[in-house]
Amino acid sequence: MHSPVGEYLQQILSECAADDGAVADYIPELAAADPDHLAVALCTPDGTLYSAGDAERRFTIQSISKPFAYALALRDHGIDAVLEKVGVEPSGDAFNEISLEERTGRPENPMINIGAITTHTLVGPADLDEDARTARVIEGLGAFAGRELAVDEDVFASEMSEVWRNLALASLVRANGIISGSPEEAVRGYTRQCAALVDVRDLAVMGMTLARGGTNPLTGEQVVPEEVARQVLSVMTSCGMYDAAGDWLSAVGIPAKSGVAGGILGALPGQVGAGTFSPRLDRFGNSVRGVRVFERLSRDMNLHLMRIP
Ligand code: GLU
Repeated sequence: MHSPVGEYLQQILSECAADDGAVADYIPELAAADPDHLAVALCTPDGTLYSAGDAERRFTIQSISKPFAYALALRDHGIDAVLEKVGVEPSGDAFNEISLEERTGRPENPMINIGAITTHTLVGPADLDEDARTARVIEGLGAFAGRELAVDEDVFASEMSEVWRNLALASLVRANGIISGSPEEAVRGYTRQCAALVDVRDLAVMGMTLARGGTNPLTGEQVVPEEVARQVLSVMTSCGMYDAAGDWLSAVGIPAKSGVAGGILGALPGQVGAGTFSPRLDRFGNSVRGVRVFERLSRDMNLHLMRIP
């Protein structure tokens, strides 16, 4: 892209290209990812997109789907009804921990797997069948991105072949009466949700949709009401970056969510939606180069929630 912003983004990528970290390998298909891909995209409130690097390279959304499925559940059932099933407290635990509140038995938040599996089952009416619910979630993710998203069937099948831990988490919330249907169906639907394919521009648009209070900047569709967007941005701020959320909030200060395929999505209210992609992860599960790119963007452009006006 030959614009000053495109050149600036290209410059950041070349300065953040050191190759430390390791690709996720607990999902066999992700271990085969090319670790060298690197891309960034920004979306402004009027829908203008800027990108650099491997911006057309698609990857699975993984945990970045969690805030959006949460948004759809909030839209469909209201904030109070969803809060009865899933809390909003950072757990300080790894993404696949058994993090349940002692008093209520509900998952601590929707950004860890046990909360996200629960949230998946809260999208749409309670009596929806598995396929219809999964289709509603994937369609909803597409409404945030402004285009229809496909599912990577290989990554889906690969994760399903090693899905025991998530199945255990789903069984626990079923045993606690937090979800009502079958744990197998919940996990299958959630795993398909995680296998939706996006690129960094999709992430930037999805982020901007939240940052504009729920209205997609490309299509003009009000995907979720403003109070839902605010709730989701709040939970991303406290719980979005696995157990590095505190470091991230102080160093970067942009509500964000990362995924194990190497994506990071950021959404700064009223200002910018951003997406990065680079598959090597740090010990928290966040993309090493993605974190660096976000640190640079935040510093260079003073993009920080706590910016003193
Ligand atoms: N599908 C992955 C899992 O449930 C998502 C994990 C992630 O991106 O953190 O393990």
